[in-house]
Amino acid sequence: MSKIQLENELGNKYDLIVGLEIHIQTATQSKMFCSCPTGYFHKEPNTHVCPVCLGLPGALPVPNKRAIELCILMGLALNCDIDNEIHFDRKHYFYPDLPKGYQISQYKRPICSDGYVETVSGVKIDIERIHQEEDVAKSTHHVENSTGKHYSLIDYNKSGVPLIEIVTRPCIRTAKDAKDFATEIRKIARYLGISDADMEKGQMRCEPNISLQERGKWEYKEGQILPIGDYKLNPKVEIKNIGSITAVEKSISYEVERLTKELEAGKEIKQQTRGWNADKNITEYQRTKETADDYRYMPEPDIPLIEISDEDVDRISKELVELPIERMKRYIEELGLSEYASEVISSSRESAEYFETLYERLRQNLNDEDSALEASNWLMGSVFAIGNLDIEIEDLALLILAFKKGDITKNKAEELLNESVEGNKDLAEELEKVIQQKEKLSSNLNDIVKEVIQKNRKAVEDYKGGKEATLGFLVGQVMQATKGAADPNKVRDILIKELKQ
Ligand SMILES: [Zn+2]
Repeated sequence: MSKIQLENELGNKYDLIVGLEIHIQTATQSKMFCSCPTGYFHKEPNTHVCPVCLGLPGALPVPNKRAIELCILMGLALNCDIDNEIHFDRKHYFYPDLPKGYQISQYKRPICSDGYVETVSGVKIDIERIHQEEDVAKSTHHVENSTGKHYSLIDYNKSGVPLIEIVTRPCIRTAKDAKDFATEIRKIARYLGISDADMEKGQMRCEPNISLQERGKWEYKEGQILPIGDYKLNPKVEIKNIGSITAVEKSISYEVERLTKELEAGKEIKQQTRGWNADKNITEYQRTKETADDYRYMPEPDIPLIEISDEDVDRISKELVELPIERMKRYIEELGLSEYASEVISSSRESAEYFETLYERLRQNLNDEDSALEASNWLMGSVFAIGNLDIEIEDLALLILAFKKGDITKNKAEELLNESVEGNKDLAEELEKVIQQKEKLSSNLNDIVKEVIQKNRKAVEDYKGGKEATLGFLVGQVMQATKGAADPNKVRDILIKELKQ
């Protein structure tokens, strides 16, 4: 079934309802409830462990202040209400990578609730909650070569790393909006230094829950999907641990297709958890979904209630910066950049800050409009192509201004940029050399033109006889004589002047 067919079919009969849960490891030095270091990537297994994160009896958890601050910071960025008390709860399940037999999480009272965020396409996504919890250990599964025996190993370095879980309302209506939302969350986490949100390293994981409902038979009210009349809602399918943003979109599209077929065949949909198989681009059945009752939530007795004052929230809010969406809008509305350029430049804080500094520098010599346009063109073209935001802004500005003055061609400018990065050459010095050469050349240019006229009498006669196309040939001869350093328009002007005599 093609995508367009699918959308038409869905458009006629069903609506897609998606909610998204996103787990993000927050960038703290130590774990959530102990002082073991968090950086477990490529570290020797089971070296970042202590009685607390190994779940040994009698060990007591001590909450990480910075982790809680980062959770609150994310809540502020997503326009949430911040609770004035922090309550931790135990969420029980039995799994080898969870040594205590429970995870310390938050149940009834998350730190942050009732927020929203806007995506680049202007869709508002409602946030139900953001709560603080801890990560589990990592299991790997192996087969012994000699015996063929299966065995599993557990690395507890990841056990107890701080996590925040962001939960949306079931307000997402397309796979693309889900992808855009996840992208926005990743950008915000990086802008605010909450997390590197590197999905390949598992620092951010997405879990969409998906259902199809018959059009006109449901309503979205107070953050919930409610049936209209005697309609019975179809249950949700949850997809676990998606490790890339494109897979968020793909897995939802896959489920839409699968669920449509099931419903069309008159089958009953069961509430279930599925996994995303990135190799095959399909979801696979894992288990029927647990309900909250299965987790036997209870208040965590080892951590006392923590109070959060207004002063605390004020202090944390000082870490907020202008967020990607706000910057994007400002670039479009105030600086006149295209939507595309604004989105690309604002997508990381580093490129946005680089752009703004370059823009301010160019304004010393150019008007506002040209400054914005040149800064964005050069950043998105040459600088991104080289992939190096370390290029000195002052050097790049000099290069751009020389280009605008006609002292240097774009090709030559890009060549200099490349050389300065790869050959470690001083860009300003190299630029000065090029300009000097050019000045020298322009004083010699008249002589070169005269020489070319002398040497190409036939072409000159043809031109004078009305074959104007020959002028191009003569321009080419001069360009060749200057090894391409002259400005062809200027050569043309001098030629025409000389040929009139
Ligand atoms: Zn520990």
